[in-house]
Amino acid sequence: QDGHAKRSLTPRAPLSADESLIIDSFDANSIDEWSYYYTHGLHLAGKNRSQAQWTADRWSEAGFNTRLDTYNVFLDYPINKSMSLTYPNGSVYQPSLEEDVLPEDPTTEYPNRTPTFHGYSFSGAASGQLVYVGLGQQADFERLLDLGVPLEGKIAIARYGGPFRGLKVKNSEAYGMLGTIILIVSYIIHSSQFTDPADDGNITVANGYAAYPDGPARNPTSVQRGSVQFLSTYPGDPTTPGYPSIGNPVRSDKSVVVPGIPSIPISYQDAQPILQALDGFGTPGIDVGRDDWVGALNATYSTGPSEAVIDMSNYMEDHYTDLWNAIGVMNGTNSDETIVIGNHRDAWIIGGAADPNSGTAIIVELGKVFGKLLQSGWQPKRNIVLCSWDGEEYGLVGSTEWVEEYIPWLSDTAMSYLNIDVGTSGPHPSISATPELHQVAIEQMHKVMWESLEGNKTMYDVWLEDTDGVVGVLGSGSDYTSFVHKGIGAIDMGSDQGPNDPIYHYHSNYDSYHWMANFGDPGFLTHKNMGQYLALLAYNLISEDFVPLRPMNYATQMDLYYTLLRETIANASANVDTEELRDAINTFSTQAVQAEKLHVQAAMSGDAALMKVVNGKYRDFSRGFTSQGGLPGREFYQHVVFAPGIDTGYAPVIFPGITEAVEAGNFSLAEEWVGKTARGILVAGDILKT
Ligand code: GLU
Ligand code: CA
Ligand code: ZN
Ligand code: ZN
Repeated sequence: QDGHAKRSLTPRAPLSADESLIIDSFDANSIDEWSYYYTHGLHLAGKNRSQAQWTADRWSEAGFNTRLDTYNVFLDYPINKSMSLTYPNGSVYQPSLEEDVLPEDPTTEYPNRTPTFHGYSFSGAASGQLVYVGLGQQADFERLLDLGVPLEGKIAIARYGGPFRGLKVKNSEAYGMLGTIILIVSYIIHSSQFTDPADDGNITVANGYAAYPDGPARNPTSVQRGSVQFLSTYPGDPTTPGYPSIGNPVRSDKSVVVPGIPSIPISYQDAQPILQALDGFGTPGIDVGRDDWVGALNATYSTGPSEAVIDMSNYMEDHYTDLWNAIGVMNGTNSDETIVIGNHRDAWIIGGAADPNSGTAIIVELGKVFGKLLQSGWQPKRNIVLCSWDGEEYGLVGSTEWVEEYIPWLSDTAMSYLNIDVGTSGPHPSISATPELHQVAIEQMHKVMWESLEGNKTMYDVWLEDTDGVVGVLGSGSDYTSFVHKGIGAIDMGSDQGPNDPIYHYHSNYDSYHWMANFGDPGFLTHKNMGQYLALLAYNLISEDFVPLRPMNYATQMDLYYTLLRETIANASANVDTEELRDAINTFSTQAVQAEKLHVQAAMSGDAALMKVVNGKYRDFSRGFTSQGGLPGREFYQHVVFAPGIDTGYAPVIFPGITEAVEAGNFSLAEEWVGKTARGILVAGDILKT
């Protein structure tokens, strides 16, 4: 290995006067203040109207028209739970199931702190022998069956990482298991920038680092809470699929997307003896032959079943409760063109300093900065809508209900949706976006200096070094999902930990202000730089005469995806004819070139009517990619070019209708989806056609 070739640094791109005002107006001290506010009060979904109102009030001060949009949705809250492991000799191990209270970190001591639990988990008790199921994907369960491991009537223990946690529970239930325990070994970010999910990068107690709060390693009692909704079927209120939870809605059967077996998340400290109870039973982990099966704990990660028996119970109270999205609107001169910017506000815990309040602090500051621009005489061309979502953690509930309510207006006017969730949990920026946004998103990185890392680098140079310049594909896991699947282009952005950075305690009490101020982002510089980046991106989308979207890049990306699809088909030794898709991409490509020519012509002639036509095409074309009936078995997911994988939940699948049918060995369905996918692409191309 000769390592990375040394890249020369790029200079910061020149800034317009407005852009300089944006850069100079972001203030790390005031972001720190907003962060402090949000991270010192319980803001579980539906439990904190005052923070919604406070957010709206800040945006009102900045000159936005604000309101709270309310939805009545199904949620559940934890009451109590228990777990014990009984060995054949009758002795019993009782895990603590809670995170340590730390005097150094005041919000971990709050009496109203949230217990560890899974959102939308099932109320009930279960008892049985243990089976270790790896990451809990379907392929893991199939492998266990191949190995002759009995699953029916057993309790699953799974690792976090890889697929969305709800799918681990869904699969356990589908294979006849009675309960699921999910243990935290590592936190893997949605777009998965690490090559080794088996541990916490280099920052571990085993490598000599002290655990939080004394040092940057993971606190051994930290637990990852989180929703266990079956996200890849549909997000939003489980009782109102496809329509908004307003008025007195008809409630449909929630069991389609919420589990029918209990699940409990546990810490690695609690997990150690439970995993060891499997040592010597079934197939040792190293012989299972599945990726990411063996973790970093002192155990063999054997399949079991164990001789020892687990007893577990989990009780929740069900509620129909109000959620509050804070909305701030600034009208543009082009009333039929809108840019939506959103971030969720709810957190599992008191803190949530990274998730989501780094993003929340950033968009409060962003509102303030747009207020300053307005005062300086600037006028937005397009409408700006700021959204502070509630209920994201349970299943993108606030954003999904909002899109379901406003879809007629969004369909007519929305150009792009910009999402920031975890604005920062470390100093490494990454973005995922629909293809027409790539160019403008990359351009803005050249304008931001990245202050939290040494070397006087632009954000672009840091990002290029980390990602080799790859913009991720959107799957799911945050609030862009409902927009994308209604044909509205979107970007998701954030900045995360690298392998040598302090461990981010995702969905844990230790994702606190104290952690952020001392380990995650001392001085709040990454917050500030991410804010500058988001504001510049929004500003350019809002202010340029021609909206800076590039539909042609959809053609370029689809060419790449097509090659990947052919590889998937070859790997499955399938014979699926994809010529119709190939032709559709070519046609789309020709039409995108035409649209871009019209763009140049309109720019040269200064013809305002023609400019309106071009902007309209750029706004509307991606609606064409949606298929009305949705993907097989999941009507909600309509985009034919990418979707969260049915058995990944977070990670995207390209040409999902075709790819997933091929992977399931259903080649006639795959051919049917070649036609449906091609038709979506042709409709999109038709909107661009001149
Ligand atoms: N972002 C949250 C998580 O990863 C919620 C995702 C969802 O339920 O859709 O747990
Ligand atoms: Ca709904
Ligand atoms: Zn989040
Ligand atoms: Zn979260």
